[in-house]
Amino acid sequence: MKRIGVLTSGGDAPGMNAAIRAVVRKAIFQDIEVFGIKNGFQGLIEGNIEQMEIGSVGDMIQRGGTMLLSARSEEFKTEEGRQKAMEQLNKYGIEGLIIIGGDGSFRGAQKLTEQGYPCIGVPGTIDNDIAGTDFTIGFDTALNTIIEAIDKIRDTATSHERTYIIEVMGRDAGDLALWAGLSGGAESIIIPEKKEDFSDIVNRLKRGHERGKKHSIIIVAEGVGSGFDYGDRIQEATSLETRVTVLGHIQRGGSPTASDRVLASRLGANAVESLLAGKAGKMVGIQNNQLVDRDILEVLAEEHQINNDLYRLSQELSI
Ligand code: ADP
Repeated sequence: MKRIGVLTSGGDAPGMNAAIRAVVRKAIFQDIEVFGIKNGFQGLIEGNIEQMEIGSVGDMIQRGGTMLLSARSEEFKTEEGRQKAMEQLNKYGIEGLIIIGGDGSFRGAQKLTEQGYPCIGVPGTIDNDIAGTDFTIGFDTALNTIIEAIDKIRDTATSHERTYIIEVMGRDAGDLALWAGLSGGAESIIIPEKKEDFSDIVNRLKRGHERGKKHSIIIVAEGVGSGFDYGDRIQEATSLETRVTVLGHIQRGGSPTASDRVLASRLGANAVESLLAGKAGKMVGIQNNQLVDRDILEVLAEEHQINNDLYRLSQELSI
């Protein structure tokens, strides 16, 4: 293999630039030419392709977002769309592709691999909702953004003796909410993977109030519904003054944490090694701090699991 391509697809995540940098530099280190494809699969169809050099990824490791831009492409889901994409790859002589994104992007990678075109997936999403890896690129940064917000909200919650409901991202996964709740000292963490009785949430709040607690923080994962609905229900059930904050897209931006930069560098470089070793249709990931790779088909079929020990601990610490 002498020429490879790299693209970012689906939702962006902090650390994607560090992953692109790792792919580009590792490839060049191995004497491989590397091409950047802008705008995800849509850009591939349209031939939005440029060769990247060592300097193309300079001053990028610390930046959020993705320098290759991202897009969603309905056309790529069609046979004709993918045919156009393959024509572009052949035109540029690109022999293998690294796709940085979430599970939707991996479905696209799998389709290309099945059509005889080797692809390797790199998990990049703040949601941490992908099986086969303990962490996805962007999760740690988003988590730290949430923690910063919780700490600030806690100040005003204390001053006004209020209960705060904070809705965080994560799509169908509760990882961001769980980790943020545990590290932010939340009273309750409401996530899609665990069905907690509403009465338990209410009772915990009431117990805290009777103990003289001045404020409470409750983290709601977007996957369980609206933070505002929970706010209304909690205020009604407890008569405590309640406020709701939906953190929204600030969770997706910002400079990646050291942890995300290291993860992105390791996974990006490993994706290049995997392609060069002749692997295809695999996702690179990290498990117990060791680099691993798994079949994309398996990763897509498996459900990402919440860390049950952490959930139990969060409950024990918020009595
Ligand atoms: P994410 O990768 O963050 O989960 P999406 O679910 O939006 O984001 O997927 C990103 C892109 O991957 C889609 O816009 C589409 O181009 C491609 N894709 C998703 N599902 C498929 C599929 N079944 N076949 C081919 N391409 C797909």
